[in-house]
Amino acid sequence: MHSRIPKAGENDMTLLAWLVTGTFFGAIASSIARQKGRGEIRWFLAGLFFLLLSLVVFFLPAVPRAGVTKVCPECAEVVKTAARVCRFCGREIARGQSAEVV
Ligand SMILES: [Zn+2]
Repeated sequence: MHSRIPKAGENDMTLLAWLVTGTFFGAIASSIARQKGRGEIRWFLAGLFFLLLSLVVFFLPAVPRAGVTKVCPECAEVVKTAARVCRFCGREIARGQSAEVV
């Protein structure tokens, strides 16, 4: 006679499904966070624990980060360091130039 006690593997499968889903959202959230100059590991963990909720990072403004992003001297939006033209206002930006330098 088999009782209806959950098999040993069932909880493991739930954990595995959660880990796979969490890693998936963590990867998305951390890649968006990287583009915005935000903490990748923090947002990966947010994806792992909060899943879909972590994608709120998509709506957060970018933050300047040395070597990755800089602030446009014209419109003060955050753009990539390698950018030559601001994607927000279309102004040409010399490499390395930023609001802090000016
Ligand atoms: Zn600009």
